[in-house]
Amino acid sequence: MQPDDSPEKHSTLDPWRGRYAARAEGMIASEVRALFAVAARPEVVSLAGGMPNVAALPLETVSAVMSDLVMRQGTVALQYGSAQGVASLRESICDVMALEGVTAGPDDVVVTSGSQQALDLIAKIFLDPGDTVVTEAPTYVTAINTFAAYQARITHVPLDDDGVIPEALAETFARLQREGRPAKLFYTVPTFQNPAGVTLSAERRPQVLDVCRRAGVLVVEDNPYGLLRYDGEPVRALRADAASSHDVIYLGSFSKTFAAGLRVGWALAPTAVKDKLVLAAESAVLSQSPFTQLAVDQYLRTQPWSDQIKVFREMYRERRDAMLAALTEFMPPDVTWTSPAGGFFVWATLPEGLDAKAMLPRATTARVAYVPGSGFFADGDGRANMRLSFCYPPPERIREGVQRLGDVIGQEIKLRDTFGATQPQPARGPQAPGPELP
Ligand code: PMP
Repeated sequence: MQPDDSPEKHSTLDPWRGRYAARAEGMIASEVRALFAVAARPEVVSLAGGMPNVAALPLETVSAVMSDLVMRQGTVALQYGSAQGVASLRESICDVMALEGVTAGPDDVVVTSGSQQALDLIAKIFLDPGDTVVTEAPTYVTAINTFAAYQARITHVPLDDDGVIPEALAETFARLQREGRPAKLFYTVPTFQNPAGVTLSAERRPQVLDVCRRAGVLVVEDNPYGLLRYDGEPVRALRADAASSHDVIYLGSFSKTFAAGLRVGWALAPTAVKDKLVLAAESAVLSQSPFTQLAVDQYLRTQPWSDQIKVFREMYRERRDAMLAALTEFMPPDVTWTSPAGGFFVWATLPEGLDAKAMLPRATTARVAYVPGSGFFADGDGRANMRLSFCYPPPERIREGVQRLGDVIGQEIKLRDTFGATQPQPARGPQAPGPELP
């Protein structure tokens, strides 16, 4: 069949529209994408992106590891590999997970292209159109988009400063069961959550595991930030205390503790699930890049990687402190925010009647950018919220950015007091991420 018309004649129209699979319908560009281009301008302080600060890596050392790798193991590194991933890296991954109390063997690990691909493969093997996934509200925007791409329905459960609320989770599972659409997965970022910055408390962790176990719902624990802890005791992974290894799929990543650009993450899964993931990975990519896997493995085996994580921690802690101090100093009364003990994000809530999305063009004009909260909800909720990242700009820029944001919010409050609340726009469902949303 031919497309509607010649693509050349209609460069702005898509001649293939109407031919896409139903699952592609929800794949739409974010309305705020254009604003991210503005946010990338040097005069704008971007509190929007979640990009790790790889400039803090010892680049010469990384370069030496890679060149040594090509010299010594080039014929393996530059060849196809296995779909499950390089065996020695899977062993190293088990040592990394042990830091969070997880005991596991390399056979149950699948290496993926970032943990993002693990999430996609999980959706692929578990979700039929119309299936229900339960997530926190708010939740990681690209997880929403991934589940939406498999035409799943997302049901949210609220979280507070101590993470997801177990009673609300139990009620939600029971309600979904009554409605004849039992939850298939519970997707959670329990530690230093993206976007809310909160962590599931030690008290709630066994409760959440128990609620899921009783409801027969498989937990997907997404934990890319766990080792970036700035206060308090190390947080044990949910998977570490699961009653059975069948209860949880754990997702990990080297994006925040080493290098996001190498795209190496993993899933630790119950054995049968792991087998399916390997088959799904094979049809997705044949094999992950042996080069980047071996590079990560060599780095872990030959370099003081936990010292490097300390360097990252110190840097991000300083930035987190700068952001919290600036928020206290510059935010008008009635703005509230979370105090993350790790990770990259603060979640702020605007006073009654303000709309973070409507305010964004004003903020970028004032040379500060953030991510409006509504992208982190599947139902368009979160108009009063914004995600503020402290991972990328240096402390003095963070302070400047928060000061500008405080001024913009102050002006919005004055407008509201003069003209009344900004009319909330209708919910539009999930948004695709902008280019710097990780
Ligand atoms: N999960 C969460 C919660 C994230 O914030 C991110 C990236 N920012 C990912 C998964 C994906 O990370 P990667 O694919 O780089 O491992």
